[in-house]
Amino acid sequence: MDPEEFRANGKQLVDWIADYLESVEDYPVQSRVRPGDIQDRLPDRPPEHGEEFQAMLADVEEIIMPGITHWQSPNFFAYFPANASGPGILGEMLSAGLGVQGMLWATSPACTELETRVLDWMAHALGLPEAFLSHTEGGGVIQDTASSATLCALLAARERITDGAGNRDGVPDDLVAYASSEAHSSLDKAARIAGIGDARVRKIATRGDGGMDPDALERALIADIEAGLRPCFLMATLGTTSTMAFDPLEPLGRLARKHGLWLHVDAAMAGNAAICPEHRWMHEGMARADSYCVNPHKWLFTNFDCDCFWVRNRHALIRAMAILPEYLKNPATESGQVIDYRDWQIPLGRRFRALKLWFVLRHFGLEGLRERLREHCRLARWFADQVDADPHLERVAPVHLNLVCFRHRDGNEAGEELLEKLNDSGRLYLSSTRLNGQFVLRMSIGQTETRERHVKAAWERIRSSASEC
Ligand SMILES: *Cc1c(COP(=O)(O)O)cnc(C)c1O
Repeated sequence: MDPEEFRANGKQLVDWIADYLESVEDYPVQSRVRPGDIQDRLPDRPPEHGEEFQAMLADVEEIIMPGITHWQSPNFFAYFPANASGPGILGEMLSAGLGVQGMLWATSPACTELETRVLDWMAHALGLPEAFLSHTEGGGVIQDTASSATLCALLAARERITDGAGNRDGVPDDLVAYASSEAHSSLDKAARIAGIGDARVRKIATRGDGGMDPDALERALIADIEAGLRPCFLMATLGTTSTMAFDPLEPLGRLARKHGLWLHVDAAMAGNAAICPEHRWMHEGMARADSYCVNPHKWLFTNFDCDCFWVRNRHALIRAMAILPEYLKNPATESGQVIDYRDWQIPLGRRFRALKLWFVLRHFGLEGLRERLREHCRLARWFADQVDADPHLERVAPVHLNLVCFRHRDGNEAGEELLEKLNDSGRLYLSSTRLNGQFVLRMSIGQTETRERHVKAAWERIRSSASEC
């Protein structure tokens, strides 16, 4: 594809995407294909001879689109938002167009330096501690996902407590990690990969509000210390995946400090709201955190993948991750004056992800972003009020931000029937969880184009369907 052909096809594809975004709410939100439907329509061998771009685009419409669940629909209320935006998509395109590999500062200085600057911007925007800014010992980096950020934090914690012996000699079998019973499953995976193992991840009980119980944590710490084990890592969650509950950072931070644990704060979803000063309450106690992550690819209009990860002490992270083979040596690295982000992450290679976040921040401005998030939170409050006044439904968790969890008063079967009926309609998409044995529907309001009329229409359908279950 020469540049002229690329220009023509590219313009056509941009038009196609713009048309799609314009009409996305007309599609049934959740794809209804059966397992294998899409594969069955694809040839089982690649073509021997090149094809026209038109043929690929036609197959996208014919074969691919029926298998798409429309995450960008304003009627998508399932799981969590993965909200994209025009500037985010354009940043993603530019990243592909430049096609740089940003593993070292030297392999594309702008890729590193823009990322450092944008992460400092984000730290200011979220009101994070000064110690996370790049002019200190700390700093930020873009990871693919919160799962990777948690794994990096755990590896840094492991090498800090073993003074490098984990990497050198293998992982000792006395390290223990702690999180609440509501923490994200990515911690369990990270603990397996880091050699901690399932048996040494403690799931601490939560209090009535869903946040971790600090007294239960302290009891677990003391029991482990008395058993001769070494508590090493504590993950606090701000906004749990099931019900968006908040762990109390302040007392958890004190316990982490007292017992020498690395405190990682997982704010993947809810942390985005901290760009609004009125939601910064969740960060109270952040002064003791060793690391923090948030996903602009969830609720900040930046296309997947984009997780922002900060550490208080970059040397602890780099010590865990750095390996310098001969073929990567270069004068800039040796000068010690540059950041080589390959030492802040698991893979070597890295994409130019800062572009899309930079575009998003500049397009909306912080006030523009706050306005959207505040509207989502206002709509969630309105929705919660409707549920509270409804005879068939019952709310099961407090609404702190943009997630409303509710159940059918007639029980789990009625709730399951309700969810199926709603999602089958194609007009909206919700997901579910379980809480104390109860089947719970989750209404997560956070898509870029979700407005009051979408939430009102969704409520009308939920209300009338609930009365028939
Ligand atoms: C979504 C979520 C994750 C996982 O995010 P990925 O970026 O997909 O790894 C982890 N923790 C919390 C609290 C989340 O909401």
